[in-house]
Amino acid sequence: MSDDRSENGNDNGGGHANGNGYDQARWTRNGQYEPLLSEKNQTRVEIGTDVDSPLPDELTRDDLELPELSEPELARHYTRLSQMIYGIDSGPYPLGSCTMKYNPKFTEDVAALPSAAVHPDRDPESVQGTLEVLARLQDYLGRIGGMDAVTLQPPAGAAGEFVGIRVAAAYHEHNGEGHRHEVIIPESAHGTNFATAALGGYDVVSLPSDDAGRVDLEALEAALSEDTAALMLTNPNTLGLFERDITEIAEMVHDVGGLLYYDGANLNALLGRARPGDMGFDVMHYNVHKTFATPHGGGGPGAGPVGVVEDLAPFLPAPRVRAVDGDGRDEGDSNATPSKYELFDPEHTIGQVHGYQGNWLVLVKAFAYIARLGDEGLTDASAKAVLNANYLASQVDYEVPYGPFHHEFVASAGEQDAADVAKRMLDYGVHPPTTKWPEIVSGALMTEPTEIESKSTLDTLANAFNAVAGEDSETLEAAPERTTARRIDQTSAARNPRLSWHALTGGEEDGERET
Ligand SMILES: *Cc1c(COP(=O)(O)O)cnc(C)c1O
Repeated sequence: MSDDRSENGNDNGGGHANGNGYDQARWTRNGQYEPLLSEKNQTRVEIGTDVDSPLPDELTRDDLELPELSEPELARHYTRLSQMIYGIDSGPYPLGSCTMKYNPKFTEDVAALPSAAVHPDRDPESVQGTLEVLARLQDYLGRIGGMDAVTLQPPAGAAGEFVGIRVAAAYHEHNGEGHRHEVIIPESAHGTNFATAALGGYDVVSLPSDDAGRVDLEALEAALSEDTAALMLTNPNTLGLFERDITEIAEMVHDVGGLLYYDGANLNALLGRARPGDMGFDVMHYNVHKTFATPHGGGGPGAGPVGVVEDLAPFLPAPRVRAVDGDGRDEGDSNATPSKYELFDPEHTIGQVHGYQGNWLVLVKAFAYIARLGDEGLTDASAKAVLNANYLASQVDYEVPYGPFHHEFVASAGEQDAADVAKRMLDYGVHPPTTKWPEIVSGALMTEPTEIESKSTLDTLANAFNAVAGEDSETLEAAPERTTARRIDQTSAARNPRLSWHALTGGEEDGERET
């Protein structure tokens, strides 16, 4: 081992000032936080110069400095790094709408099966099993959402939105309705909805909420016209409120010839109970990381499949997978036993939006998760997601202005600053909720515990909320105190970002970066 034991240790000192037993690790060595691998043992490796390189001389080198470390040193390095941050494997992560869930390890095992490692250019005849998984996933998602056809290509929910809006645009164009230039979006919607509509070339019409936090039908009536291409909605909405007038809303939108888009971020509240297709939605995306516990992709590489009703299916991205030659039945029929799967291009396709069928290994995890849970398990997941949100809300001291809600609730930080509340919650060993959005609740603390947490974890979360609710602004502004990195200067971080590596020193109490 190369580590110097006397210099290397967790410098927390063992005190638990806030009495909650939480201290994030601060692994230091020579006063510096866990060094980079390249700052540990170095060895020079000759790479030789006799290779005829097409690169200019100043860009070639004849030796390379590489870290020389044993496997335990490597494992410990990454374990320490993982202890200096907060993740879903560290504790609860109640990010409303953005929905962080534990990623079950069995889906990792399935994705690691040798048979999952197929080359995407293989002849479809030779990868029938792979195509079957994709076709069955399309079928599962279609049945869960009440949609007739599904593409698996988009690499994230936001990318799915863009594809969905492009499909809607192609549909209107095809019907000689290309003049429709407006997309209506409730003001409480996720920022990606607005970005999607704008990127799709549409003018955004922002829709105010009514006093109960739902779509204001009069405002919707006023906004709808023959210029309306689509209304984008999530249901339950970002306040966790079910849009009870959804069938009326769908009728109103369809009456003017518009389409209804479902943002699937909150689908975990409805699994096995209600389907967007049955409510009148025409096109939707699925955030498989929010609903089916696949890893988040940071905007990709994840998966954000898109489902559509029959009329829109010809416009989906190409290629898609379908079953042929079976007992005469096509996709969408779970009882079919097709003998063959093939790729095909939908008749009026908008084209290809991602390589091959999208992020296959993420899709495999979603498939495994859905198959393992089955109808009963998925219905149970939505029950627990809603129960957990309602239990947690009943335990927190902060005011929750809107309800009754489903899988998430939005509390108000009141006199406190929501961002300070969030920083302080980290000191209690829990991740804070989503803050300051939606803006219709001042000091929004948008909280979604998800179905994965036990009652005792929910109690830990409630205790953290309530401890922070009772603290003064001085304490909140000094937070976080017990994390590896302290509060950063967010303005400087945005205005003057340092984009190359600087050692983070452990000696300074505020965890400032060395210059
Ligand atoms: C997360 C989210 C999105 C975007 O989805 P990504 O998969 O993160 O790209 C869109 N709408 C809502 C309501 C969301 O919460």
